[in-house]
Amino acid sequence: MNKVEHIGIAVNSIEESERLFSGLLNENAYKVENVASEGVSTTFFKIGESKIELLEAISDDSPIRRFIEKKGEGIHHIAFEVADIESEMKRLKKEGFVLLNETPKPGADNKLVCFVHPKSANGVLIELCQEIRGNNE
Ligand code: ZN
Repeated sequence: MNKVEHIGIAVNSIEESERLFSGLLNENAYKVENVASEGVSTTFFKIGESKIELLEAISDDSPIRRFIEKKGEGIHHIAFEVADIESEMKRLKKEGFVLLNETPKPGADNKLVCFVHPKSANGVLIELCQEIRGNNE
């Protein structure tokens, strides 16, 4: 894995939290994006090499809604950038990690993503992400 690409934070209101994090980081968000397949609205901040992703549920069956109901707002996942998501998924499977999706799926911020179940990673939801090449803004 290359680096921590971003940290995902589950919030009740993107609007309020965007203001809060702008003040905290002294930096404006660079991107707002809905990911309908995950039932979330996302906002990204870039701090040097890393990013912060705020996630708000926009549908009742959104995993973010369930997360907040159970645990409240807070850190939801850590995302690692990988060069080749398919081979990394194969490697992790062989190591015994439980993947939440069998094939990479399109995520926010022009990425292919795959999630690793928190029960196989000390309670931390792990996201693998690979930049979708040739389609950068
Ligand atoms: Zn993420």
